[in-house]
Amino acid sequence: MSKPADTMEKLVSLCKRRGFIFPSSEIYGGLKSCWDYGPLGVELKRNVKEAWWSRMVRRRRDVVGLDASILMHPKVWETSGHVSGFNDPLIDCKKCKARFRADTLDQQVCPEKPSKRPGECGGELTEPRQFNLMFKTNMGPVESSESVVYLRPETAQGIFVNFKNVVDTSRVRPPFGIAQQGKSFRNEIVTENFIFRSREFEQMEMEFFVPPAEAPEWYRYWRDARYKWFTDLGVTPAKLRLREHDKDELAHYSAACADVEYEFPFGWKELEGIANRTDFDLQRHAEATGRDLMFFDDQTKERYFPYVVEPALGVDRAVLTFLVDGYDEEKLEDGDVRTVLHLHPALAPIKCGIFPLVKKEGLPEIAEKLEDELKRHFSVFFDQSGAIGRRYRRQDEIGTPYGVTIDFDTKTDQTVTIRERDSMSQTRIGIDKVLDFLRDKLDF
Ligand code: ATP
Repeated sequence: MSKPADTMEKLVSLCKRRGFIFPSSEIYGGLKSCWDYGPLGVELKRNVKEAWWSRMVRRRRDVVGLDASILMHPKVWETSGHVSGFNDPLIDCKKCKARFRADTLDQQVCPEKPSKRPGECGGELTEPRQFNLMFKTNMGPVESSESVVYLRPETAQGIFVNFKNVVDTSRVRPPFGIAQQGKSFRNEIVTENFIFRSREFEQMEMEFFVPPAEAPEWYRYWRDARYKWFTDLGVTPAKLRLREHDKDELAHYSAACADVEYEFPFGWKELEGIANRTDFDLQRHAEATGRDLMFFDDQTKERYFPYVVEPALGVDRAVLTFLVDGYDEEKLEDGDVRTVLHLHPALAPIKCGIFPLVKKEGLPEIAEKLEDELKRHFSVFFDQSGAIGRRYRRQDEIGTPYGVTIDFDTKTDQTVTIRERDSMSQTRIGIDKVLDFLRDKLDF
């Protein structure tokens, strides 16, 4: 697959043009750091979350789900270390007033002179100062220091504070996990690269609680399982790697950490982190609240704080990866170029286009009947306008893996043509076999 050098520009434009992703509040000039998912984007995003939930929760006996609130008791964030330590070093340019993250200065450009590095506009850069990334708001009618609450910067703490609730109600015992998907907010100094880094985003995190001695083994298990999730969903293995953190990169509470990285058009970047967080969080919350957050094993009669292995992935980063990896401009034999999104069928926003060859002679009615049957199971798109080749191309561009054409033969022999997006091959099958055919292909 050949990717054009300006893939990001083309992708951002495709996302806007076809209704995947729009800038937030665009008619007011946009908010820059937030994004809205349009009709196709919302389907894609839901499918990404579903592919994660089905693999991480529903198909396993040892993981249960949770949906904790975004606003939590402010002490949670003191205990977790976020109030004192969730900071990035901030630098200002005194001339052009731009703000930069001191730790990634070499990767940033001056907004005044985008060919230059920060400070090369002739401005003096300030010394770095620590900037806390948590958004603050007030709970209740009175704005005071007493009423300050934070928008959660990660979903993980909602899981830790519910550890006891889940253990007491769900008959789980280590090794077991609690998984959660939901919005997180970080007041990032710099937002960049479309939906890669924004200030409001969604995360999918799972805290896997294990007997301490088993943590290294489970860490390797989840690291490898998470890598495989991406390749099973079709991400090009040559563009995906696991990078183990060096000892000096590790957070103080972390015993091991690896990132799944993807080679975006803007370089190799973190997609997901898998960490052995030890028993740090449960210990801290137990100390702060006086609650017993140990696990009591009634078989061995041991009482202990489980260690935690955490895979943490951003939904939007995953969406961007599938879009970038799937985007292609293919040169066809007739010299034409077709734009195609090679999305895994399980992720594609629309699973099947339904095309009556002409708008008359009973073909639309047969097609509508098929549409009614299929849309009870997944999203389909009915299109009867324009040449059939153009209709195929419109679906290729948004990643629809299959197209079903109803033609004159359908009336006599009840067969239809199924056209496959990637190979563009066409086969004929009975109209009563279409549902089973597609279900089989959509399985993940
Ligand atoms: P980065 O170094 O890129 O800021 P991080 O190491 O701070 O990321 P984590 O705290 O480990 O990120 O969060 C887990 C995952 O959440 C990340 O791997 C990423 O996929 C996602 N994520 C974190 N921050 C953002 C953001 N600002 N926008 C979109 N996704 C994010």
